[in-house]
Amino acid sequence: MRTLNVNLGNRTYPIFIEVDNFTNAAKEILRHCDAKTYIIITDKNVAVHYSERMKVSLEQNAVKCHLYKITPGEESKTITTAEQIYTWMLANRFHRDDVIVALGGGVVGDLAGFVAATYLRGIRWVQIPTTLMAQVDSSVGGKVGVNHPLAKNSIGAFYQPQIVWIDPITLKTLPRREVYNGMAEVIKYGLILDHELFEFLEINFNKIVSLDDSDLIIHIIRTCCRLKSIVVEKDERESNYRRILNFGHTIGHALENITEYSYFNHGEAVAWGILAAAAMSQKKLSLPDDQFARIQNMITRLEKPALPSNLSVEQVIQSIQADKKMTTEGLKFILLEDIGKCMVELVDGELINWGVNYVLSIEKFAI
Ligand code: ADP
Ligand code: ZN
Repeated sequence: MRTLNVNLGNRTYPIFIEVDNFTNAAKEILRHCDAKTYIIITDKNVAVHYSERMKVSLEQNAVKCHLYKITPGEESKTITTAEQIYTWMLANRFHRDDVIVALGGGVVGDLAGFVAATYLRGIRWVQIPTTLMAQVDSSVGGKVGVNHPLAKNSIGAFYQPQIVWIDPITLKTLPRREVYNGMAEVIKYGLILDHELFEFLEINFNKIVSLDDSDLIIHIIRTCCRLKSIVVEKDERESNYRRILNFGHTIGHALENITEYSYFNHGEAVAWGILAAAAMSQKKLSLPDDQFARIQNMITRLEKPALPSNLSVEQVIQSIQADKKMTTEGLKFILLEDIGKCMVELVDGELINWGVNYVLSIEKFAI
């Protein structure tokens, strides 16, 4: 078993990474929470495969277990769904000592964590992430929340779980597109913080995405969790340093937004955003040509939809401006000096234009 701690004073918690098939998960959860009642919140897809096993495993340890299933997908990450869950929880008289178990991908994690943070002013929660995206990224750091019609992820809190239990076996049932979705964030961690991880991905990419070798998967999950914990430990509430995790995300978010969150998934849009940021880094920070070529090559290996041919540079820039405060001097961007070494740089509109133009033009070329 590979365990690591996210060290946040009295909010410190462990992350377990183990191929377990829901045998030891319940025991470990009980050891950390010692509650009599557990409330599993999951979505209907994940429930088909795992919720019964989790429930039985908890009940075998003589605790009560209740199950709430949401409709899968980002559309469920709303205050309306949260309210439905509050109503059900109040009707069942769940109290302050009960524990929420978030079993699912990022949507379930964010929503169930938000419910935990707010129900009776906060009850304990446990996270069992089941997508690669959630296992390598969103389950670490305690960002919980829901979307608002005017802005994604705008309503939320920082609220750390008691324990995160990651079982890579759950990835076996994950749709292939979701595997690539998570890989975009893995690549991000290599690029901003860990040259060795990036090299490891270059060598093992095909084996990793085939999910056949659990040691490789555990290695990348553990590495990403460790890197993210280090960042979160330095800056839990994203006042400064944690922003490096937004590498590739400024342009990525713009691409998701213009295509109305229905064309790309998050990782696919971020993959294009990473390529644009790498191109900007080559121009502004003299990222060496050979390093840039390696990044280009890695992004090409990620299966993702092409950029829609009617997308214009102006649209992307407008969307960035609507999302981020652009001062007269420009906008703070995470760029790369080298693979594994990032910097926060103030960049002007011209450079952003150049980066966006770069990805849009290679795509046209590719078509
Ligand atoms: P993310 O973690 O990327 O935010 P979601 O929570 O939206 O993603 O999950 C993506 C999709 O994958 C959803 O349809 C969800 O029901 C499904 N899903 C999550 N985990 C699994 C799994 N282990 N096996 C099969 N489907 C899963
Ligand atoms: Zn992301």
